Amino acid sequence: MNTIKGNKQQRYCLCGYTIWVQYNLAEEVSDTVFWNQENSGSSINKCPVCRKKLDIDNLS
Ligand SMILES: [Zn+2]
Repeated sequence: MNTIKGNKQQRYCLCGYTIWVQYNLAEEVSDTVFWNQENSGSSINKCPVCRKKLDIDNLS
């Protein structure tokens, strides 16, 4: 079990791929987790399409 909480928010990579962003609200230090699907799926740190490293500042 992980302690990640918070709803996932839909964002888009620069290439148009849908990225789901989840903020880890369980820790004092805010952390961001990227997912390839809203439900289930797996966490990712690169866009599976354009291979760009995911950065919240680069998502729209
Ligand atoms: Zn991309």
